Amino acid sequence: MSEKGKELYEEVKDKIEELKNNDSAYAKFGEIWKLACPIKYKSYDLRFLYEDTSREFVDRHKDNIIKMREDFVENIEDYTKLCMKRLGKTNHFKVHFAKTNEEAQKIFMEELGDNKVIYKSKSLEAKDAGIIDILKENNIEIKETDLGDVLCQLFDYKYPSFTLAPGVQFTVEEIVAKIKEKHGIELKPQAEAIVNYYRTTYRPELLNNVKVSLTSANAISADDGSIILVENEGNISLLTRATEKHIVVAGIQKIVPTVFDALLVAKIQERIMNVDGAYISLISAPSNTSDIQGMRVFGMYGAKEVVIILVDEWRTKAAKENLLYKDLLKCISCKSCDLVCTASRAFGNIYGSKYGIGAVNIIRDYIHNGIEATVRDGLFLCTGCENCTNWCPAGVDLAEIMRNLKKEATEAGLAPPNLDKYKEKIFKDKNPFKAQ
Ligand code: SF4
Ligand code: SF4
Repeated sequence: MSEKGKELYEEVKDKIEELKNNDSAYAKFGEIWKLACPIKYKSYDLRFLYEDTSREFVDRHKDNIIKMREDFVENIEDYTKLCMKRLGKTNHFKVHFAKTNEEAQKIFMEELGDNKVIYKSKSLEAKDAGIIDILKENNIEIKETDLGDVLCQLFDYKYPSFTLAPGVQFTVEEIVAKIKEKHGIELKPQAEAIVNYYRTTYRPELLNNVKVSLTSANAISADDGSIILVENEGNISLLTRATEKHIVVAGIQKIVPTVFDALLVAKIQERIMNVDGAYISLISAPSNTSDIQGMRVFGMYGAKEVVIILVDEWRTKAAKENLLYKDLLKCISCKSCDLVCTASRAFGNIYGSKYGIGAVNIIRDYIHNGIEATVRDGLFLCTGCENCTNWCPAGVDLAEIMRNLKKEATEAGLAPPNLDKYKEKIFKDKNPFKAQ
C-alpha cells in the first residue's frame, strides 16, 4: 500500500467515523437516505399512481431502451451530427459543439456576456463540464431555483447529495430557523409555510428578472432536434420561458435517436422515482410568432434565444476506443442504481463525489480527476453486489466499471489494508475466509 493509499484510507475512515455522530452532515443525510431507498424501492412494485407498477412499466420497455442506447453508442458521431443539424438548421437554436470542457467553458462565458447573474436548474451536466466552477471563479452569482437546491444554497451545503431531492436532509425546524437567520422572516414550522414563502417572494423574481437561464436536458432527440425537460415544481418552465436567453449545456450522451425515445426516457425517469413529473417541456424552437403578415419574428413571450452547448470531452473517445467507462454513455440518468446500491444505503453521501452520490458520480470523478479521486469518494466501499447492473433499465454494467476501477486503484497501491490480508490468505490457503 502506497503512502497516498494510506492517506486516502484514513480520510475515508474518518468520514465513516462521523456517521456515529448524529449531528454530523454525513449522519443526517445517511439517516434520511436509509429510509428513502427502501421506500422508493418498495413503491416500485405498487400501483398507487397507475394501472401497472413501475417495475412492469420498466420491464416492458427495457429491451427497447437497451437497444436504443446501444445503437446510439455505436453511431455516436452520426447521431451527434444529425442532432446538431436539426437543432440549428431546422429549429433555429444557436448550437455549439465543444470538443473539450475548456471549450465549453469558454463558449459559455461568451454567451453569458456582461450578465453577472444566472438562474439555473438541472445542471449536473454543466458541473461535469466545469462550468459551475468557472462561474464561481468569475464571481457570477448563481441562483438555484429548484427548492431543494435553494435550500442547499441557503445552508451552504457542500456535501454530495441526491440530485432529485438535494435538500431532503434538512428538517422543517432547521429550515425555518435558517430562513429567520438569513432573511429575518419568522415562519410556522410547516412545509406549506416554507413553500408559500418561496412562492410569494422568489416566484415574482423568476417571472420578471431572469435574463439568462441555464439548464441541462433530460434528453435531446436527433430526429427532430427537441429538448426534453421534466420537472415537478414549475421552475424550469419559468426559467425556460420567462428569460431572454436560455442556455442548455448537455453532454452528447443525452442525445437519443427519436423524439419518442426522448419521451420514453422522461417517462422511465418519472416511473422509477414514482413521482408525477408535473411538467414535461418539449422545446423545439425559441419563442416566435408569424402573426404579423406571416413574417416570422423570434422572441414573442418566451425565450428570444436558445443556445445549446453539446459537450464531447470524453464521450466519443470512450465509444471509439472502448474505454473502461464506455458503458456510461448508455446511462439515461434514471438514478435507480442509487436506490438499490448497498454501499450507498450503508454510507449515504460518503459514497459519492462532488458530482453527486453513488457509483455513477464516482465514475464521473474518475473521468475528470483520476483514480485517487475515486478512492477518496469511497470506491472500495462498493461491495460488488451488482444490484446496480441488475436494475439498470439501460443495460449499463456499473458493477463491471467499478471492478475495473478497483483493479486500477489496487495496481496503484491505493487498495485498503484489509484487502492485502485477503490476498495473503488467498495465496496461502486458496480461501480468503479460512480460519487461522
Ligand atoms: S456493485 Fe457497488 S455500486 Fe453497484 S450496487 Fe453494489 S455496491 Fe453499489
Ligand atoms: S446507470 Fe444508473 S442512472 Fe444510469 S441508467 Fe443505469 S440505473 Fe439509471
